[in-house]
Amino acid sequence: MPHLETLLAHAGCEPDPATGAIVAPIHLSTTFEREADGSFPHGYVYSRAENPNRNQLEQTLAALEGGAAGIAFASGMAAATAVFQSLRPGDHLILADDAYYGMRRVLGTLFATWGLSVTAVDLTDMGHLEAAFTATTRLVWAETPSNPLLKITDLAAVAERTHAHGALLAVDNTWATPLLQRPLDLGADIVMHSLTKYLGGHSDVLGGGLVLKDAEGLAETIRTTQKAAGAVLDPFSAWLALRGMRSLAARLRIQCDNARRIAVFLGGHPNVARVYFPGLANHPGHTIAQAQMHDFGGMLSMEVQGGAEEAMAVAAQVRVFRRATSLGGTESLIEHRASIEAPPTQTPQALLRVSLGLEHNDDLIADLDQALSVLG
Ligand SMILES: *Cc1c(COP(=O)(O)O)cnc(C)c1O
Repeated sequence: MPHLETLLAHAGCEPDPATGAIVAPIHLSTTFEREADGSFPHGYVYSRAENPNRNQLEQTLAALEGGAAGIAFASGMAAATAVFQSLRPGDHLILADDAYYGMRRVLGTLFATWGLSVTAVDLTDMGHLEAAFTATTRLVWAETPSNPLLKITDLAAVAERTHAHGALLAVDNTWATPLLQRPLDLGADIVMHSLTKYLGGHSDVLGGGLVLKDAEGLAETIRTTQKAAGAVLDPFSAWLALRGMRSLAARLRIQCDNARRIAVFLGGHPNVARVYFPGLANHPGHTIAQAQMHDFGGMLSMEVQGGAEEAMAVAAQVRVFRRATSLGGTESLIEHRASIEAPPTQTPQALLRVSLGLEHNDDLIADLDQALSVLG
């Protein structure tokens, strides 16, 4: 098994048998020819069920996470929804209390009518987790580092408790990527990705993926949901996501380095009240992050001195950063998170979330310094 960097550098680059092309062609055909005897010699029938570009992406994702099955969807939320749809009315789910707000939204609306019950729990507190299990708990949904407070969950400990109660552990690994953290190795059963973020990496493709530890059982159920319900990743998006993934290792090194330097700069800035970054020694999850991650990621949050108005004033001044939601692209982004999350958000009003891109860190630091100077 080659290193993940080698696998990534070649993702989607099996020479095409028809032409020798190094980069795979995009197979836009929705349908595939039958032989005279009625068989499908290449294994492809109809593109909702199987598509060569999607299959390539699914196999790459599974290899990166060390799982048995990869299943790709039209977005990260479609991937997560397919996991929730595998549960039955009456089942109980434990959700990290600061999971991506889209999870809270689908579970609070769509799946409330479906009859799933949900308990939101601080997964950094094992006592709270233990108290939340019921006789019908089927799934624990974790996300680490979390969004936007960068809380660190001890995945091995949560997996152990979850399995003791006969439930499965799913981990949203979007922020860490398989290069920084491999949840299946730590005991998780399901890994979810928004390909829209670091894996795609260029803010130009929407996609989602799941990797399951086992190819049977739940993976087959979810594969049926994918093919039958049809929220599939289209061939062009699969091709773009694979194109992005080929440079992931190089991008992430710069992004992690930028985040580390900027966290230290912000930590010493008089107009910054608090920095949330697991790479800082004073972060409550620092030791666990050091043990379960290879690096601390390219995301951080800060609270400026003041409230929503001061945070908006700082964001209004940036010139190198872009004011936008999302993350993981080549361009650095800054966002007032509380105003994009629906109320009742727990996100502090003075918080700005930052996604570091590939710019030179001196330019990023100078930009934040001049923007923070509006606070006097
Ligand atoms: C963006 C994001 C999602 C949702 O993914 P989409 O591709 O936008 O549907 C889920 N989890 C995390 C942590 C994210 O950042």
